[in-house]
Amino acid sequence: MINIEPIKAFNDNYIWLLTTNEGSIVIDPGEATKTIKYLKENSLNLEGILITHHHFDHTGGIEDMLKFKSVDVYGPVNNISRINKQLKDGDLFSLIGIDFKIIEIPGHTLDHIAFFSNNNGKPILFCGDTIFSSGCGRVFEGTFEQMHESVLKLKSLPVNTKIYAGHEYTQSNLQFAMEVEPLNQKLISRYNDVQNLLNKGIPTLPTTLELELEVNPFLRCQTSEVQKSVVKKFNTSNHEDEIFKALRQWKDNY
Ligand SMILES: [Zn+2]
Repeated sequence: MINIEPIKAFNDNYIWLLTTNEGSIVIDPGEATKTIKYLKENSLNLEGILITHHHFDHTGGIEDMLKFKSVDVYGPVNNISRINKQLKDGDLFSLIGIDFKIIEIPGHTLDHIAFFSNNNGKPILFCGDTIFSSGCGRVFEGTFEQMHESVLKLKSLPVNTKIYAGHEYTQSNLQFAMEVEPLNQKLISRYNDVQNLLNKGIPTLPTTLELELEVNPFLRCQTSEVQKSVVKKFNTSNHEDEIFKALRQWKDNY
């Protein structure tokens, strides 16, 4: 059994805390104070830190976490010197009884990786700033083609995969998605669900791949609904790469 809790940081970041009977690990500790407080209050034993990409809001707490307890830091090959377990595509490792597989997903940053676990048929994915609920990350370092390819890699995971993203962007993402697909009824019902959750202060994550296939325009570039909408606005071809790029640029300026 894995217990997975979000620790809210900054405006809208989630630091994910995973606990089994073998201990706890944190994913993307952008800050340490709240994370350490949570560990202490719940008498949890930190056994490792996992990093998806180098951005400060995902890594800024590493130093202080290591002062609290010296543990291994797993992450991509980048300039974060505290990462002592550097990981590449296809790498496998096990921590607190969870078997992880690394998926390289460049685009948002060039070093970006995701942590996937099949978790005995209840798959879980930690994908940082690559897929959000109803959205995807901005393309800062890679190309649009790279980002699209990375999104497609994640899209090929089992549909029951629970997706733990790095930010609570769901509501604003859904507003954009409804602009792209005004007739998508699933979007409207997800929007209502999300408003109810947020009103109660409950995170809208994790989401599932099954739901994202219905409500995330960046995972729907092959559908005629998204294609028609993008082609109408930008006069692009309906090549999936071009649809993805135009959609991402549309969102950037939304
Ligand atoms: Zn980022």
